[in-house]
Amino acid sequence: MTILAIESSCDETSAAVLVNGNICSNVVAAQLIHEQYGGVVPELASRAHQQHIVPVVERALADAKVPKSALNAIAFTRGPGLLGSLLVGTSFAKAMALGLNIPLIEVNHMQAHVLAHFIDDQSGNWSPPKLPFLCLTVSGGHTQLVLVKSPLDMEIIGQTQDDAVGEAFDKSAKLLNLPYPGGPLIDKYARQGNPLAFPFPMAEMPGLDFSFSGIKTAIMYFLRDNLKTNPNFIDENLADICASIQHTLVQMLLGKLKRAARETRVRDIAIAGGVSANSGLRTALQTLGDEQGWRVFIPRFEYCTDNAAMIAMAAKFKYDQGDFTSQAVSPMPRMAF
Ligand code: ATP
Ligand code: MG
Ligand code: FE
Repeated sequence: MTILAIESSCDETSAAVLVNGNICSNVVAAQLIHEQYGGVVPELASRAHQQHIVPVVERALADAKVPKSALNAIAFTRGPGLLGSLLVGTSFAKAMALGLNIPLIEVNHMQAHVLAHFIDDQSGNWSPPKLPFLCLTVSGGHTQLVLVKSPLDMEIIGQTQDDAVGEAFDKSAKLLNLPYPGGPLIDKYARQGNPLAFPFPMAEMPGLDFSFSGIKTAIMYFLRDNLKTNPNFIDENLADICASIQHTLVQMLLGKLKRAARETRVRDIAIAGGVSANSGLRTALQTLGDEQGWRVFIPRFEYCTDNAAMIAMAAKFKYDQGDFTSQAVSPMPRMAF
């Protein structure tokens, strides 16, 4: 069984080919145009997807050495994401499936982030998490604690009530005058800093929910006050500030993850989404997992941020169930599980 998958929910155009359950190619074209605006500009994102989609799909097929005639289905991200961006991938997938007369498979982008854990990493000793498992999905637009009962049956048991944690990273970075997306830069500078240099307040939220909007206000006032007495405060303390911000965000995430594991009694624990590339989170989770006796699952870097390989993996489960989509489908910018 051979599936071509397309991802275009935000600012990465990606295509992947899956053959008999294995990923054979995964091409990602990032859009650098947004950096100068300090965030993703939706109209520019959809135009860039239009420019990238044909070469990206052709490259994915060529890398996998799969001719179009060998495809059994076309999968695409239906949502959640930016409407204009989703429209490009959806329309392309529909047209290609119609032209080849093969089925279409719609995929939920957030479920796909979780299902990246079913991609065999070809290391020889790979195994997926055992069901049910917990997945902390942390990305640019979402922060979710997901109880995964089966690949197509997931329940959100906790989530952010305001900003996503990726947004908290990016907005904090912006306050430090770092370019977009700032998350990876905070990670980089944090490596040289003291995580306990500047204690920032952690929001207290009931149950398994999160809140990340307060921290950016706290950082804003913290910087304003310190810049008054020392105009070079940011430059002189960048590593310590980044390490402290990252430490605070990671502790907020892991506190809830620990609580979720306790309440559900699940011991296979995974992280997914762009922020799961964060080295502070990866290390702290591994340490916590050892302490708690969890089996910890951390995706390979290329499967953390947006990619079509995870869309292909999700599509495989749907293909096996015969769960196809009609040509009348349209994108869903907000899409529940
Ligand atoms: P969603 O998946 O919610 O629709 P998205 O697709 O835009 O949002 P992803 O591509 O999964 O999000 O993740 C992007 C986010 O991950 C950005 O906020 C980025 O700053 C953050 N990120 C990526 N690498 C790191 C890192 N090393 N440390 C911290 N944050 C990171
Ligand atoms: Mg992105
Ligand atoms: Fe994503």
